[in-house]
Amino acid sequence: MSSLNSSEGIERFIRPDLRDFAGYSAHTSPETLKGKIDVSVQDIIKLDANENPYGCSPKVSRALASYSDFNVYPDNGQVLLRQSLAEYTGIDAGYIVAGHGSNQLIDLILRLFISKGDEVISCTPTFGIYSFSTALCGGKFVEVPRDKGFNINISAVKAAVTGKTKVIILANPNNPSGTLTPRQDVLELMDNGIPVLVDEAYYEFSGQSVAPLVSQYQNLMVLRTFSKWAGLAGLRIGYGLFPSRIADFLLRTKIPYNVNVAALVAVQESLKDIDYLMGTVRAIVAERERLFAGLEKVEWLKPLHTQANFILCAVLSGEATELKRKLQDRGILVRYFDQPVLKNYIRISVGKPEHTDALLKCLQEIGI
Ligand SMILES: *Cc1c(COP(=O)(O)O)cnc(C)c1O
Repeated sequence: MSSLNSSEGIERFIRPDLRDFAGYSAHTSPETLKGKIDVSVQDIIKLDANENPYGCSPKVSRALASYSDFNVYPDNGQVLLRQSLAEYTGIDAGYIVAGHGSNQLIDLILRLFISKGDEVISCTPTFGIYSFSTALCGGKFVEVPRDKGFNINISAVKAAVTGKTKVIILANPNNPSGTLTPRQDVLELMDNGIPVLVDEAYYEFSGQSVAPLVSQYQNLMVLRTFSKWAGLAGLRIGYGLFPSRIADFLLRTKIPYNVNVAALVAVQESLKDIDYLMGTVRAIVAERERLFAGLEKVEWLKPLHTQANFILCAVLSGEATELKRKLQDRGILVRYFDQPVLKNYIRISVGKPEHTDALLKCLQEIGI
């Protein structure tokens, strides 16, 4: 065979800046653990991806079971969806664009602003997709480190701005720390006119939002998702609130039909069942406080105060990666991040009361 048929041959055609691209390191899917641990897949307790342990609204399951038009493409303009989201958010439909998860919107926004060599500023440690998508666009990801308490340093962000800065991204509350940046500081980020993306994936848990301001600022974008509070992570549906001119650009540059019909149905049904879903959010917030208290009692752990549905926890003795593995062997999945600043931490999603009980019991058994 000629060398043109070897993998080396084909690599020559791949974008040089992507040849060594590492990709996104996602959490472990339970089905991949089958046979590797002594716990069966359906008994695994998943506290690693901030999903809603109560599932989606029962109305969603019922509506999808009886839906019959899967053969028909969805509305590319998202008209009904955007109207429903306008009612939910109180922001006019002209400011709204939906995506295949808010991850897709992060990618779409960065593609709109970032050319090769442009810079994206974010306060790290933070959500991994920001650096992932920046790299895919050929941009440079500029990290402004958070302080010991994982709070952001506004003057350091301002000092990091250069002529090439095109977007500043702030996860609020932040993932993985759960810390909330005060509203006044978020507003200050918008001072110099650079596009600011505020990712409010955990808004329903924190209750703080700058969304009502998108119509007043030309440079404010806010992202939301149905993955966390509404239990729809598997259906991939998120949305953003944008100045209307940016919304127009995004609607033109997005992949056609990016939100599938199952997700469209699921949003309509979820929005008919907000009381039920917010009931699960309240249950998770209450359980968060109980989990926090339980973790505080473990001498070798130090949980961080959080405004989201997860708790970042410092592991004060022993290796965090070991702890993750020991919990996994017992069928409990938590998230570990392979980054120097997070070396001694694990992130635990808040589950149901019985999940907290099982976790605390395992932690006692593991000891030090
Ligand atoms: C989970 C999460 C999202 C959600 O992404 P989807 O694509 O909507 O599932 C977005 N931003 C942050 C910070 C998150 O933690």
